[in-house]
Amino acid sequence: MTDPMVMGSERSEVGLPAAMEILRSGGSALDAVEAALRRCEDNLEDHYVGSGGLPNARGEVELDASLMVGSSRAFGAVGALKGYPNPISVARAVLEKLPQHALLVGEGAALFAEECGFATAELLTEEAKRLWREALAPSSDSVEGENTSSSAGDDAYRVAALDLVRRLSPHDGPWGTINVLALDASGELVVGVSTSGYPYKYPGRVGDSAIAGAGNYCDLRYGGAACTGRGELSMRAIGARAVVERLALGDDPETACAAMLAEAAMLPDDFRAELRTLALTPDGRHGGAAGQAGSVYALMSVTSTEPEFYPRKVV
Ligand code: ASP
Repeated sequence: MTDPMVMGSERSEVGLPAAMEILRSGGSALDAVEAALRRCEDNLEDHYVGSGGLPNARGEVELDASLMVGSSRAFGAVGALKGYPNPISVARAVLEKLPQHALLVGEGAALFAEECGFATAELLTEEAKRLWREALAPSSDSVEGENTSSSAGDDAYRVAALDLVRRLSPHDGPWGTINVLALDASGELVVGVSTSGYPYKYPGRVGDSAIAGAGNYCDLRYGGAACTGRGELSMRAIGARAVVERLALGDDPETACAAMLAEAAMLPDDFRAELRTLALTPDGRHGGAAGQAGSVYALMSVTSTEPEFYPRKVV
């Protein structure tokens, strides 16, 4: 019997109490992670995840999410999913109902969500639309960026969207995926990640959050890890998997996270945005690291009345 625990990245505190309620009553880590991330996705004040997330360069909200189960290393994910407010639940459906596959993207992911009976919704909030328009404003007036099908094939629009992607480096954040890692009473460990991704990204861009090994990795023998921040860097460093490999070699979670970030920071990258990472072991040890000071993670144990915050090691 393990003491249940749930931890998450910045802004996961919106969902952690729901996860702990499930864990306290003997529920599964998978249910807990999904419940926590659904609450985060439904938080309209959060512009980096779910409904209310910032859109791509064309003004369309495209969401990525994944779940990985430690005991089986089963993985389910969706990328660039449009029109469905809870991508984490669609990722879970991929995991459980379509084990032939691990990742569905774009149109196919939406088709699968529809087949599973998930409800569609307009995800672009007025606030996210305003922020996107402000970001797009310096681009050509002729392509001011209305999200209509008539603009979709427009060459000038395509060029302007690319220009927007090039003009905005990830420094123009803040931006931030949400990671949730949970350990349940049976000893199962699950890692979930959900995001609207790189703000104003090129349409179709999928980040590390949907990629096994990059933004999410979980192996019950050693622990789970997840990343936020510059996803392209995490993909190149295979960040989450690299953290878990270090746990396997005996590093404590904080040391493992810091070592991965130090190694990723050596990669040449013109967009020097930071990467952050978290790790949790099957025996309940936890830690995190970040490229900038002031970054924290939230945690709840069975005795917590509310999320407690821990500093991440600065690399
Ligand atoms: N890692 C995410 C991505 O690259 C973004 C983020 O954490 O803000 O899509």
